[in-house]
Amino acid sequence: RKENNNIFVDDLREQTKRPIPNPVRTFKEAFRAFPGIVENILQVGFAKPTPIQSQAWPILLKGFDLIGIAQTGTGKTLAYLLPGFIHMDQQPREKQGGPGMLVLTPTRELALQIEEECNKYRFKGFKSVCIYGGGDRKAQINRVTRGVDVVIATPGRLNDLQMNEHLSLRFVTYLVLDEADRMLDMGFEPQIMKILLDIRPDRQTVMTSATWPPAVRRLAKSYLKDAMMVYVGTLDL
Ligand code: ADP
Ligand code: MG
Repeated sequence: RKENNNIFVDDLREQTKRPIPNPVRTFKEAFRAFPGIVENILQVGFAKPTPIQSQAWPILLKGFDLIGIAQTGTGKTLAYLLPGFIHMDQQPREKQGGPGMLVLTPTRELALQIEEECNKYRFKGFKSVCIYGGGDRKAQINRVTRGVDVVIATPGRLNDLQMNEHLSLRFVTYLVLDEADRMLDMGFEPQIMKILLDIRPDRQTVMTSATWPPAVRRLAKSYLKDAMMVYVGTLDL
């Protein structure tokens, strides 16, 4: 376990300890190999990475699964989105026949916020769609059918479109379970389980949560592989 101020990083793999990548202090340090991203972030107006971003980016860019535990408003969205774009760009062509990134999030409001964040970064022209209950189902299906790279969805509606074969998830190689604790509180576990049955096991998976209760740990254990964990703030473990 590495500790600086109140940021903690754990390697959850018990057998062989891997070196935990060093945190980055600047956007340039994180993304120097990926033209355009740093300029894009600066255009949006941010000065430096938030604590969770500075730890999460090098871990995710190395391809590890990640559990990020931090309060709301700490910049978790960008922590997983930018490495996700890079991940998709690096996939071989045969894995690019459908959406490559899926973000599951508990509510329509959060889904729309994530899409807004996504739209500020036009990396490689990736197209996103937002799928949530209560939204125009036909319009969502049309959008999906025209071809998308990033799906941002609440579990109920996504599972509905999936069961009715409007959307294939077999090209998803970067999966985000955003606000996992809230998704479980809202009773979405059965839908999440059905969704994940269709997603390839050799994907990269990110989970974010504000808390780390037993139910979230179980979810992490079932769906993440050799994850590294970053938590910001105090936490009773
Ligand atoms: P969380 O998912 O942790 O609740 P968000 O990802 O929604 O937090 O981010 C909260 C706000 O902080 C958003 O408005 C986002 O645009 C902004 N933000 C993200 N990264 C940075 C940064 N590096 N510097 C300043 N603001 C940021
Ligand atoms: Mg968030």
